Amino acid sequence: MAVPGWKHQLDLTLRDCLSSLAWFPDWLQKLKAVSSFLRTETYVQQVSHWLKGQGVGGLAEMVKKCSPPNFAEWRWGTLLKVAAAIKPVLLSLIVVFPFALFRKSRNQAQLDLIAEAFSSASWSGWQFDFVLWLSGFITDLMQWGCGCSCHHLQLQSGEVVDCPRKGRRLHEAGRHLEQEQEKALALANSWATETWSCSFAELSDLQGCVRLMVALFTKKMRYLYRLPYLLARLREPGIRQQVYDQWNSVRPEEHHRVTQKWLIDGMPLRRHIDMMNPDGTNVHPELEAAIIALAAAPLDDSVSEGPHARWNKFQNHAKAATFAWNASTMRMAQNLDDARNMIPTIDADLASLWCNWKTLLRLPGANAHKAPRMNLKHVPSIRTRCHFLRYASRLTQGTHMVAATITIQVSLLTTIRLVIQPMMLHEMVMEKVVTSSHLMKGETIIRVVGLVVVVVAMALANLPRKKRVPEIPWR
Ligand SMILES: [Zn+2]
Repeated sequence: MAVPGWKHQLDLTLRDCLSSLAWFPDWLQKLKAVSSFLRTETYVQQVSHWLKGQGVGGLAEMVKKCSPPNFAEWRWGTLLKVAAAIKPVLLSLIVVFPFALFRKSRNQAQLDLIAEAFSSASWSGWQFDFVLWLSGFITDLMQWGCGCSCHHLQLQSGEVVDCPRKGRRLHEAGRHLEQEQEKALALANSWATETWSCSFAELSDLQGCVRLMVALFTKKMRYLYRLPYLLARLREPGIRQQVYDQWNSVRPEEHHRVTQKWLIDGMPLRRHIDMMNPDGTNVHPELEAAIIALAAAPLDDSVSEGPHARWNKFQNHAKAATFAWNASTMRMAQNLDDARNMIPTIDADLASLWCNWKTLLRLPGANAHKAPRMNLKHVPSIRTRCHFLRYASRLTQGTHMVAATITIQVSLLTTIRLVIQPMMLHEMVMEKVVTSSHLMKGETIIRVVGLVVVVVAMALANLPRKKRVPEIPWR
């Protein structure tokens, strides 16, 4: 059973809520400028050296240590991490920032943004505090989804906990979210203009942003109150009636297969549910086990986030790559192992090399999803080799340059030996013109052609690709 990604949904909510504030895009641009400045080591060194000279060694140390994460690597809670890293030095830095030191700096646009940010009381004041609060609130909710109720206190104190129940909170997510929503709404309603030191209109915007957050939560997390996810909460009073109502609202065949397995008349689980008390007691052990198993469906979607982020990067730069192609050519441990293992197998067994090799290649155009066969019709074209080369160039981003280069050359030679050479020999024999010197010449020609192919393919593979404009305005 697929569960919508908890963190993805909350991350998008954070983005949508903040984007609803008219000042936010501009505010974020300035935050990025400040963060990028504080990430540049030479700048930070200059500033902290100057601060030490002015007798504020403490601040100089703080500036040196404050290293906000990179916005380019946008992950869950990056905004919170960046804002939280800058916050401790912000107010002091605004007062003493030595703009004169960087008058001749190349990146004047960045310094202009910093100057604008530091000269605006709203930017470093209520706007900064509100973004910090909202991103903190939503990031806490994200973290909740990755935790477990059995180690709640340890996780809150920041301990690293290894527990199999982590991220398996489907049965309690709805209730927790309701409580948090109520807390946020109550807090927002208690705000006055003095809370943020802003004007009445600005306060209304902030309160509207919190209300939007609650509305988006309700919309995005509606699935928690629907079948089959609702079945994980069967032990709560009143849920059984909701389950029956939803089940009867449409025909059985229109329900999810998990729901069908539970609720079709005559199924063992259905009998146990019918036997339950309306308040959720008197649960049969078999039903109890099924509820526990359903509630163990992971809510935490951060497990494959690394590969997903990398995949997105490739997808944005590729012209027509499918998910399968991108997944199989990512610089991941198993793919690198494939590439490494290919080389020693070459001398031992060419047939197995062919098998390895065809798993790496794909046919052009409409045949892209098919595995190439040993068929003259499917002799790999130059374009296919370019695909292979792109694959190899991805591998070489790390320390695997040599391995990949050998792989390319060997695969090309193998193509020549296995496919092209027999074809040429066959024609020569047919025309009765083959002699040993012909063979020598043929070999040389093939090697030269192979070299040209390598050069052309390399040039093609390194052509700059069209970049897509990011869809999200503030990333
Ligand atoms: Zn636990």
